[in-house]
Amino acid sequence: MPLKLLAVPTVKLCQQPLRGCYNTSMSKIWIDGKFVDSSKAKVSVFDHGLLYGDGCFEGIRIYNGRILKLRSHIVRMFESAAAIRLQPGHSIDEMEEIVRETVALNEQKDGYIRLVFTRGKGTLGLNPFLCPTATCFVIVESIKLYPDEMYEDGMSIIVAKRPRVPKECLDPQVKSLNYLNNILAKIEAIDAGVLEALMLNLDGEVAECTGDNIFIIKDGTISTPPTSAGILHGITRRLVIEDIAPELGYTIQERSISLEEVFDSDEVFLTGTAAEVIGVSHIDEKVIGCGKVGAITHALEDQFRKMVAENAPED
Ligand code: PMP
Repeated sequence: MPLKLLAVPTVKLCQQPLRGCYNTSMSKIWIDGKFVDSSKAKVSVFDHGLLYGDGCFEGIRIYNGRILKLRSHIVRMFESAAAIRLQPGHSIDEMEEIVRETVALNEQKDGYIRLVFTRGKGTLGLNPFLCPTATCFVIVESIKLYPDEMYEDGMSIIVAKRPRVPKECLDPQVKSLNYLNNILAKIEAIDAGVLEALMLNLDGEVAECTGDNIFIIKDGTISTPPTSAGILHGITRRLVIEDIAPELGYTIQERSISLEEVFDSDEVFLTGTAAEVIGVSHIDEKVIGCGKVGAITHALEDQFRKMVAENAPED
């Protein structure tokens, strides 16, 4: 009997380009103690990172030869590893040195680092303790997540129907290799013709986007959901709260935020290592504020760009 083809859903035409860009030309990857060409860098099909998403990762940016918040990213990586009882083969100091060496070898002045620990090779069962040695690799590449126009005009996003996995089930502080919750919300966004989705927690409160934290601005007050809403304690989020906003004279409130408040905001912006600071102009096709990147968001983004261009903090 001929196979019945599934109906292909109509994809809405997208007003904004959908492709990010990873440059996967020949780079040198550090993997388990060796530098190898990117075409030859391989992990085993028995690696539990691949079989079960058992592992953790970090994404880190390089600006003008300095690695933004390198120490904080490596510390978060080790906290993720400790939370899943994965024993990396290197110390925090050694890992920092390995990342710096990989960046230097690839001569990347502005770029993106992907640092990964997988559980390593094991049996086909779940038991992580039958994987004797964790695998570790470092990729240094360039990245452009969103086109320049999105930073100038603002980004359109949707509210995902799928809630964020509750923190009681999986602590969002663990930046694990299992991103399916976020990927399925990202697919909702792509199906709707946009690139990012806002996720709510099971209580219906605003949590975070699939790869970014969210901030809202109303009557000059900036607010962002607290980590108790079930979000990743983003390093860019922290930089904005602790350095960038105070430098401009703003104090940011961490508090529970409802979806209604987001729609009623004057400005909304997102933060993330890959996304940096980006204004949101539309959510679910509704206009936010003036439908452009607002003045405070612009000021914060400029301050962020100034900081990373002049002297990105590496602590
Ligand atoms: N939330 C999620 C789910 C993320 O994946 C990321 C990207 N790491 C962020 C927030 C932003 O975190 P950071 O600023 O540390 O990149």
